[in-house]
Amino acid sequence: MLKVHIQDKTFANGHCALRDLHLEARPGELVAIVGPSGAGKSTLLKIICGLDTQFQGQVQLPEPAQLGFMFQEPRLMPWLTVEQNLMLVNKTLTGARLTEALKRVGLGDCADLYPGQLSGGMQRRVALVRAFSVSPQLLLMDEPFQSLDAPNAEQLRAHLLELWQATRPTVLFVTHNLSEALSLADRVLFLTAGPSRVALEVPVDLPRPRSQHAPAVQAMRHDLLTRYPDLLKGNATPAA
Ligand code: ADP
Repeated sequence: MLKVHIQDKTFANGHCALRDLHLEARPGELVAIVGPSGAGKSTLLKIICGLDTQFQGQVQLPEPAQLGFMFQEPRLMPWLTVEQNLMLVNKTLTGARLTEALKRVGLGDCADLYPGQLSGGMQRRVALVRAFSVSPQLLLMDEPFQSLDAPNAEQLRAHLLELWQATRPTVLFVTHNLSEALSLADRVLFLTAGPSRVALEVPVDLPRPRSQHAPAVQAMRHDLLTRYPDLLKGNATPAA
């Protein structure tokens, strides 16, 4: 079980990013975190993964505390091949195992290519394989499909779901795209604008796979934004 309570996260310059933020995620749960830009989503992930220890509060990680991370940019080493990039995080990911892992995301014959020889979407797929290659118990994803075109993002979401369903880590998926959150998550947490806390929690009980454009996803989005018109600005006050 992941349990997070941030009483206060104030930066050295006095800016308070998070205050009294509680969140929990069950083993194998895929939780999306939606909030306006600058709300403190990246700060929250940095605290959870231990990169930022300057806060008041507690973080209890699932056991064993094996963490995977996927960022906004693929962050592959340009001077290393795909295989070498993956071996940086898991030395056993070579030969047939590597080919098998790459095949799962449609990159079966890309092991010897350099990142510069791959499209942006292909680089993200390598980053996705890398994130799963450590067999994470908790996978933190910070807007990982941002700035991809719609078909590539949809394909990556499908790959993410396949990999998640095969191994079932707990996933925290940060996004500001409500349709993306509803298409992926078991539960969506909406943050207030900073100092951030959870303003609203919404379970998503729709069958998978769900496309972003599926009528049920769009109906849920429409319903949420009708009930809470300023939700994406970080305000969960119901419509009058
Ligand atoms: P989000 O990921 O939701 O867009 P961030 O977590 O990146 O937001 O940032 C939250 C707030 O904290 C923003 O107002 C940002 O400017 C501020 N912030 C982030 N890092 C620092 C820092 N090192 N020092 C001061 N303020 C920061």
